[in-house]
Amino acid sequence: MAGALTPEQEKAYLDKLSEALQTGYTILTNGGSSIDAVEASVRILEDSPLFNAGKGSVFNCEGKNEMDASIMNGKNLKAGAIAAVHTIRNPVSCARAVMEKSSHVLLAGDGAEKFARESGIEIVPPSYFYDEERYQHWIATKDLEGASWAGDTYITNPEKKLGTVGAVALDSAGNLAAATSTGGINNKKFGRVGDSPIIGAGTYADNKTCAVSCTGEGEYFIRQSTAYDISALMEYKGFSVSQAATEAIKKVAQLGGEGGLIAIDNQGTISVPFNTSSMFRGWIDSKGEKFTGIFR
Ligand code: ASP
Repeated sequence: MAGALTPEQEKAYLDKLSEALQTGYTILTNGGSSIDAVEASVRILEDSPLFNAGKGSVFNCEGKNEMDASIMNGKNLKAGAIAAVHTIRNPVSCARAVMEKSSHVLLAGDGAEKFARESGIEIVPPSYFYDEERYQHWIATKDLEGASWAGDTYITNPEKKLGTVGAVALDSAGNLAAATSTGGINNKKFGRVGDSPIIGAGTYADNKTCAVSCTGEGEYFIRQSTAYDISALMEYKGFSVSQAATEAIKKVAQLGGEGGLIAIDNQGTISVPFNTSSMFRGWIDSKGEKFTGIFR
């Protein structure tokens, strides 16, 4: 979600989205796989301080950056994810390594960092993720009423900032893939893990149906198994991707949650529903026709 943006900031966001799309598109038009495309696109966004993932991750309640990411291959339902990491420059690539080089799906905390080092994933000092603007935002909001937890819900806080990154893709072989990466939610509790690294909540891909990546208040997406819900609605109820995605966001809203998602089906139909006032988003089709947008 975006707050008030200057025209320069808006352009910077759209340009970065465009670069991520173009990178994925180039891989796909050269015959590359959807899994390569989503990883490469997400890495571009992780390396930018503009988005809440990798370099631009928000700060938790202890003033630390704690990141989550996941990736899923719709061809074989293989998936990998990492949670609560502090030193992995590109969490999405470590998630992919978990998928490809371990027999597990989700590694968390110190174990994930150790696995990253052993797998040759780029490690950076925690200071790499320090961003003055994000830090000042945390300082300014951390003691506000509503900047903390209340039971199982966030009290609505206008200063709460989201901005997870994700990508979904369909390649020329008909394979779908999805990836999601995030710094989580500003001022989140230490050790809190959101939906982004939870397969079936924040990320899902199945060639039979669709690929999905979600953003928003992760607790609601976990409780609704949102990403898998879309696939299930398509598989078991015959919904179109857009009917299923719209229904899933409606269910998040009914619980009181906010967010959005990007979804693509195995025919290349895209659906991008959100119940927030804005969501950074973009898509590119097989002819190279590109759209990027922020507001409704
Ligand atoms: N879904 C992410 C989380 O709950 C946050 C976001 O999308 O901005 O960690």
